[in-house]
Amino acid sequence: MSVSAPIKFSVKDYKADLHNDWCLGCGDFGILTGIQMALAQLNLDPDKIALFSGIGCSGKTPHYIKAYGFHTLHGRVLPVATGGRLANSAVTVLAMGGDGDGYGIGAGYFVNSGRRNLDFTYIVHTNQVYGLTKGQASPTLSKGRKTKSMPEQNIQDGVNPIAMAVAAGYTFIARAYALEPKYLAGILVKAIQHKGSALVDVLQTCPTYNDLYTKEWYEGADLPEKKSRLYKLEEHGYDGVVKDPADLDEIIMKKAAAVARSYEAEPIPTGIYYQVELPTYEDAVNQRIPALAEKPLVEIDTFHRDVDPLLEAMR
Ligand code: SF4
Ligand code: MG
Repeated sequence: MSVSAPIKFSVKDYKADLHNDWCLGCGDFGILTGIQMALAQLNLDPDKIALFSGIGCSGKTPHYIKAYGFHTLHGRVLPVATGGRLANSAVTVLAMGGDGDGYGIGAGYFVNSGRRNLDFTYIVHTNQVYGLTKGQASPTLSKGRKTKSMPEQNIQDGVNPIAMAVAAGYTFIARAYALEPKYLAGILVKAIQHKGSALVDVLQTCPTYNDLYTKEWYEGADLPEKKSRLYKLEEHGYDGVVKDPADLDEIIMKKAAAVARSYEAEPIPTGIYYQVELPTYEDAVNQRIPALAEKPLVEIDTFHRDVDPLLEAMR
């Protein structure tokens, strides 16, 4: 009897055969590549991946990845991804969307998803504008800044996604740069492997509407020494991983360090700001309904009430 070799997936196995209509030079291309590289590194079966997206240019990302995809309503990506995750715990769930989608209209969901610690990875394309609707200021644009798509300076301050994630309870918090897909892929691998809610905030260039935070700006092309305005936390002795999750003092110290780093504006830190292993929402659900620990909800016959294994399990 011959034994078939295990399948080894490559980046091309995650490429959907669909015309991509992002603008030329958009940072979303780098994020797409980073996601596909991470999926290949983890050798995840495309059949076992569920991608969810909100509205915006970045919302199209699942269209370009060969896996299951769900393009949801504006700001609603996290509740829909939560439903997907709870319905089928056998799949890897990635949620994605823009900074306007996630930190604006979706901000309430962002906070409550963090405190649940459900096992999924949320990738936010942070480009400081609402690209799809012609470049209005998004929630991450600082006060007083004016992109070429805005008639006047921004009159309100920007939010700090890393600090918000720390406060909300995300257990893996990282930042990367869209035009470094290899580095982004490495971060995404760790985020996907992490058991719990992971936020990866990706600094994304929008050459069509954002003439402030450009490739040239991030990479310091205008500086005399041409030094990047980004640096990698781990190359500067920073370690945001909590070693003892039972040690509250260590948790508070690492959270405070992550928040402090998140306010560094130039250069901007990339890498893992904070990580801790804590019980997930699924752990709590499985404890209450043991049947769900054995197989995903989608595989349980919940239709025939008199033999409902969920109710049986709760008796
Ligand atoms: Fe990318 Fe900006 Fe074009 Fe949208 S508008 S596709 S974010 S460059
Ligand atoms: Mg945006």
